[in-house]
Amino acid sequence: MRKILVAGNWKMHGSIAMTEELVNGILAGIDDDDFADIAVFPAYPYLGQVDALARGSKLLWGAQDVNANTQGAHTGEVDCSMLLDFGCSMVLVGHSERRSSHADTDALVAAKFSAAVAAGLVPVLCVGETLDEHEDGRTMEVINRQLDAVLDSSGIAGFANAILAYEPVWAIGTGRTASPAQAQEIHANIRTKFAAMNDTISDEMRILYGGSVNGSNAAELFTQADIDGGLIGGAALKSEDFLAIYDAARR
Ligand code: PEP
Repeated sequence: MRKILVAGNWKMHGSIAMTEELVNGILAGIDDDDFADIAVFPAYPYLGQVDALARGSKLLWGAQDVNANTQGAHTGEVDCSMLLDFGCSMVLVGHSERRSSHADTDALVAAKFSAAVAAGLVPVLCVGETLDEHEDGRTMEVINRQLDAVLDSSGIAGFANAILAYEPVWAIGTGRTASPAQAQEIHANIRTKFAAMNDTISDEMRILYGGSVNGSNAAELFTQADIDGGLIGGAALKSEDFLAIYDAARR
C-alpha cells in the first residue's frame, strides 16, 4: 500500500520564532510508527532553520517553488542546485497561487518539473480546476491539460519519483472541501490516465488531495482508495492542527 504523505504548505507565513515552535511541536508529536510520511514546505528564508531543527528526524522538508534555470542573472530567484546544496529533497511545482498570481503557465510548470527531476529533487506537482471550470464540468479537461504539458516535456519516466497533488482551486483556503467521493473520482481518473502509460508508476505514485483539509475531514479523505495523503495549507500553521491530520492517517 502507498504510504500516506501529510505535507504542510506554509505559504508566505513564518518567522524564526514561528518556525521553531512549529517544527518542535511537530517533532514532539510524530512517532516512529511508519504509517505516514510527513513533510513541511516553508518559505525560502526558513529552509535552513527547518533543516537544522529536523536533522536526524523523520520530518521531510522542501521548497514552495523553484526557478527552472540554472544559476545566472535571475534576480530574486532560487535554482535547484541551491536547494540541493543544503539538503532540500522536495519542491512544490505549479501550486495554484503560482499559476494564478505569478504567471506560472503550463509550459513554465513543465520546465520547473523537469529541472527538479533532472536535479534529483522530488517534485510535488499541483493540478486543479477553478470554481468556474468546476461548475462547467471541465475538471478533467483542465487537469489533463496541466498534466499533459508536463508529460510532453518529462515523459512518463519523469513521474517515477514524483508526487501529484489534486487541489481544486475552489477548495484552497475557502473552508469548502471536495467530498471524499468527489476527490476519489478525480484521483482515480488521474491514476487511470497514468496506468495507460505505465502500470508500475501509476500504482506507486502518491496522489495527495489539497483544499481545506483539517483534522475532522482528513480521516475520511485518506481512506479513499486513491487518496494517498494531503497537501495542507491553513491547518499546517499550528502543530496541533497539523498533527491531528497526521493522526488521521493511522488507518
Ligand atoms: C494549499 O495551500 O495548498 C492548501 C491546500 O491550502 P488550504 O489547506 O488552506 O486549503
